[in-house]
Amino acid sequence: MARRKKIYEGKAKTLYEGPEPGTIVQYFKDDATAFNAEKKDVIEGKGVLNNLLSEYFMKGLGQIGVPTHFLKRLNMREQLVRSCEIIPLEVIVRNYAAGSMSKRLGIDEGTQLPRPIVEYCYKDDALGDPLVTEEHIAAFGWASQQDMDDILSLALRVNDFMSGVMLAVGIRLVDFKIEIGRVYDGDFQRLVVADEISPDSCRLWDIETGQKLDKDVFRRDLGSLTDAYSEVARRLGVMPNNPPAPSKPTLVN
Ligand code: C5P
Repeated sequence: MARRKKIYEGKAKTLYEGPEPGTIVQYFKDDATAFNAEKKDVIEGKGVLNNLLSEYFMKGLGQIGVPTHFLKRLNMREQLVRSCEIIPLEVIVRNYAAGSMSKRLGIDEGTQLPRPIVEYCYKDDALGDPLVTEEHIAAFGWASQQDMDDILSLALRVNDFMSGVMLAVGIRLVDFKIEIGRVYDGDFQRLVVADEISPDSCRLWDIETGQKLDKDVFRRDLGSLTDAYSEVARRLGVMPNNPPAPSKPTLVN
């Protein structure tokens, strides 16, 4: 069998050249990292869960007319996506204060924000993905004013969709991060939601108990990450047929 050409290896995913020009195979790894890769581990089954969950969210976005890079899932760990030029920004939408915003502004985690707040970070691991303003983005040419208008509109549409999907299964969407890619159709460029949407890139809290069902479980050593992600997948009905083994033995009568 011919060896595939690796295009890029990131912290949680590896990208390979796809079967057709303009396509990429996105492979979801089990590697978990936090604090700019200072904390690392391998969490068995995480890649499978994120592949399935990202497929679920990207397909849903497509169904309501939000363009994404997603084409199809290939197997339990891989999906085919459109190749795109990633805008070097992490687009963060927050509905409740948490994480770096709580730290930066001294607002208690869980405080509801008066409206969704969109933040931009410059994607650069060496710099620790610093928060930037639209002034920096325009001055350094990372995105045009038209791009920024489109990015804001995409981010808020993703927020409405994700908040609703999560609310329906008793989960609060506290915040999330997306990445945006440019795809070219002839002379025209379009912006699409790219990368992944999964519990790695969202904060998800159970509405009743406040239990964290996202990567903070790993960041803050709160228990089993596989159990948390499996719970999200189970509630959404996207649990794989052979789910990753639970961390604790289950008693059977
Ligand atoms: O750390 P912070 O509070 O800024 O994160 C906001 C949201 O963006 C969280 O849901 C977090 O998981 C996500 N995020 C991410 N990748 C990063 C930084 C933040 O997915 N590099």
